[in-house]
Amino acid sequence: MRNPLEWEDSSKACLLLFATLLAHLQYLGWAYYLLSLPQRDELINTEFALSQLPYFHGIVVLSTILFVISIVGSLKRSESVLWQHLGTQYYGISLCYFSFVIGTLTMPTGAVLAAAPVVGLILFDRAAVFGALASSTLLILVISYGSALQWWEYAPVIKNFVSESGHLSMFWLTSMLLFTVPHFLMLTIMAAYVLRRWRMREEEVRYLSLTDPLTSVSNRRSAMSHLERELERSRRKGPSLSVVMVDLDHFKRVNDTWGHGIGDEVLVKAAKTLRETVRQNDMVGRLGGEEFLLILPGTDQKGAEFLAERCRQHIAKLEVDTGQREILKVTASMGIYCNEHNRLLESDMLLEYADQALYHAKESGRNRVVIWHEGCA
Ligand code: GH3
Ligand code: MG
Ligand code: MG
Repeated sequence: MRNPLEWEDSSKACLLLFATLLAHLQYLGWAYYLLSLPQRDELINTEFALSQLPYFHGIVVLSTILFVISIVGSLKRSESVLWQHLGTQYYGISLCYFSFVIGTLTMPTGAVLAAAPVVGLILFDRAAVFGALASSTLLILVISYGSALQWWEYAPVIKNFVSESGHLSMFWLTSMLLFTVPHFLMLTIMAAYVLRRWRMREEEVRYLSLTDPLTSVSNRRSAMSHLERELERSRRKGPSLSVVMVDLDHFKRVNDTWGHGIGDEVLVKAAKTLRETVRQNDMVGRLGGEEFLLILPGTDQKGAEFLAERCRQHIAKLEVDTGQREILKVTASMGIYCNEHNRLLESDMLLEYADQALYHAKESGRNRVVIWHEGCA
């Protein structure tokens, strides 16, 4: 399923209207159950309950119509923030009516008023959520103050909420819980699901921002910040840090002869080879074009040379099918610098020295590994 955060307005409204319809059906079922009880006259104001039944039905019919309309909108992938306003306003206002029936100062009203906006803000447009919160709160206040001013009865359907002996009615306590729990479950599940998708999306964005899209190794930005971190660690804790600058030889020729597509394939294969040859703690980054950087923490010059040589050999063994009965082979030149003798070097100097060594490798015939020495400068 697509991430709900990216749903069209109409689909979000559709989800909310479906949940609203379910709540209304629950209330209608509850009303019928109450009216069927032999002792109903002791629990409810039967006359009032009967007078409200047409409204209960009307609301269920209206909810069904709105839900169906939102399904059509959703199938058409309709985008308009009005959908969200419709969904949230209808959810809030219709619940206010039920709050009027069972009392505004009750658990279900409090739970929905407190939790729905929080969950709503994750998934819905801010104006739609605050708009619905404003109209619902206003309605709840009017219903409550209207009752306090004796314009209408408070919780007109309820009878004997507290018994004459001063005890809470078991029936009404259970009913209130039954009204509250579905809302709470729905809101919690929705919040948990959407937040999980949110975290997944963040992971994805993080991965994309740190990865080279062609070769899937670290991109330049990620390689540079990794180098800074490792350099800092090397300074504080002591182990040497080596960097290897890798550049494919005569790569322009590959592109010119076989085309960019084959060139890309070579890059992908070379990057994969480097990744598979280095150790778990080492990092491979693509600095750009056909240039890669290996960052080897805790590795002295000898170790770096050994690893770079292995990488060079593995790249030289690579074969790329050109689709023209010819196998394409590539080689790479590498320049190494290790901070063994100077831990105070900054990252750009480290790279500069590795680059000088690489240049030297190119000058002296390519397809080789050169460790930086005074002669490279
Ligand atoms: P040298 O041995 O001296 O390194 O020669 P070279 O041809 O490898 O070096 P040069 O810097 O002249 O050419 C690099 C080429 O890499 C030029 C450019 O077209 C190609 N290139 C850069 N980025 C990409 C890419 O993402 N895909 C492909 N296919 N080619 C790329
Ligand atoms: Mg090159
Ligand atoms: Mg180059």
